[in-house]
Amino acid sequence: MTEPAIRTTCCIAGGGPAGMMLGLLLARAGIDVVVMEKHDDFLRDFRGDTLHPSTLQVMHELGYLSELLTLPHQKVEDISAEIGDELVTVADFRHLPVKCPAVVLMPQWDFLDFLRRKAEAYPNFRCLMGCDAREIVLRDGRVRGLEALKGGQPIAIEADLVVAADGRRSRLREAAGLKVEPRGAPIDVMWFRVARLPTDTNATGGRFDAGRIFVRLYRGDYWQCGYVIAKGKAETIEAKGIDAFRREIASLGRWDLARLEADLPDFSSVRVLSVAVDRLRQWWMPGLLCIGDAAHAMTPVGGVGINLAIQDAVAAANILGDPLNEGRLGDGDLAAVQRRRSLPTRLTQAAQVFAQERILAPTLRQRRGNKTRLPVPLRLIRRFPLLRRIPARLIGMGARPEHVRSGGGPAG
Ligand SMILES: Cc1cc2nc3c(=O)[nH]c(=O)nc-3n(C[C@H](O)[C@H](O)[C@H](O)COP(=O)(O)OP(=O)(O)OC[C@H]3O[C@@H](n4cnc5c(N)ncnc54)[C@H](O)[C@@H]3O)c2cc1C
Repeated sequence: MTEPAIRTTCCIAGGGPAGMMLGLLLARAGIDVVVMEKHDDFLRDFRGDTLHPSTLQVMHELGYLSELLTLPHQKVEDISAEIGDELVTVADFRHLPVKCPAVVLMPQWDFLDFLRRKAEAYPNFRCLMGCDAREIVLRDGRVRGLEALKGGQPIAIEADLVVAADGRRSRLREAAGLKVEPRGAPIDVMWFRVARLPTDTNATGGRFDAGRIFVRLYRGDYWQCGYVIAKGKAETIEAKGIDAFRREIASLGRWDLARLEADLPDFSSVRVLSVAVDRLRQWWMPGLLCIGDAAHAMTPVGGVGINLAIQDAVAAANILGDPLNEGRLGDGDLAAVQRRRSLPTRLTQAAQVFAQERILAPTLRQRRGNKTRLPVPLRLIRRFPLLRRIPARLIGMGARPEHVRSGGGPAG
């Protein structure tokens, strides 16, 4: 084994929303923390750029919201769905009891850079970019640290607690042998961008037509588009060629075909997201805790993955801060994090699976060209507009919003 090069209290593998937020909160609580991120920067493809009202509330509680909102972003106060010829407002965030009752669309790398800058103001915070966690170090049945590669060189980290925040393909949860329970996902999503013209609207929403579903998010000078397909059908679509795909998107977006030529020259500009929903039976083992997608992969339905990851981080910091600071972290503390976050995770995944099975999959199964049947939940929302507050609450706040504990130390 490599000799320990770094000794810390908490080592977090993964600098996504869960890992960066936890690193910041622990640093703020005076705990020595190392975050390692395998990429050299946060600049990657679109992987979810939504900051929901509960995340914005966390930023407000930290005193960062106004500064965060000086970065380029778009605000979405409601979400609508075009179903056949009808436009239904599905969620209205304006009534949520928070500082910023809207979803903010901001490139995830800007948000992560922002969190890292705030965390780096604390001398007890270190972020190792380009550092790939490879193995957990186990001694006497307890995780004692990590072995990683930085710039191709082995590096060992010894820590009282290792946190796996390394996403839905978590290497660490696999290394720890934690059992994953898949929940099933009947859809995949093809993501791509289309330049926005000044004559376009700025409405974020979806279009449901018999046999096809299309989502577009307003991103200022472009649309982030998602074409929802039945699981595993991407290859069939690609085999029909890019011209057929462009024609399909032009008709769904009600756009000129010519407009799509520059944005969709071929399928290299389209990224296929293989949608997965799963969760760990147990999120921890002695010395190791999984949070965010590493504990529970979410589907893009409702765009709540980042939210949940942030909420896990806040709960983990609230529960583990004192035991870590006082050197008395026990298994019961790790189990308490799972107990706290298990219910919101289960409820959110149940809502996602419900939407997949009752709205998305039946729409995709309808014969194309037929009149689109409005799924029952949307019929109810159209009939009783007050019901729009339920998806707004579920999407915007989640089942158990977490709050930042006061008393964090000033940045150094
Ligand atoms: C195409 C796409 C679109 C999405 N759209 C949305 C959306 O609109 N809204 C939304 O809320 N959610 C969306 N999601 C889901 C959302 O991105 C995740 O739920 C959320 O990012 C989870 O945060 P996380 O920190 O747990 O994991 P991740 O964001 O996956 O972060 C994990 C981090 O760990 C790093 N890492 C992985 N392995 C290692 C290792 N061995 N060593 C060191 N670092 C490692 C990764 O590079 C990554 O930076 C989308 C996901 C995808 C893929």
